Amino acid sequence: MQGTDLAAEARLNKLICMKCGAVNAPNAKKCRKCHSKQLRRKAREPRR
Ligand SMILES: [Zn+2]
Repeated sequence: MQGTDLAAEARLNKLICMKCGAVNAPNAKKCRKCHSKQLRRKAREPRR
């Protein structure tokens, strides 16, 4: 097992607010900073 994988998954498991850029929990429905619903995962096509 490698830490890289875990780290990558942890990153993908976070939601970034597209409005203010705050990091939210993966299960968040709204940004807890600006209450925006525009949360995006930092998923970058897991190709490797
Ligand atoms: Zn926000």
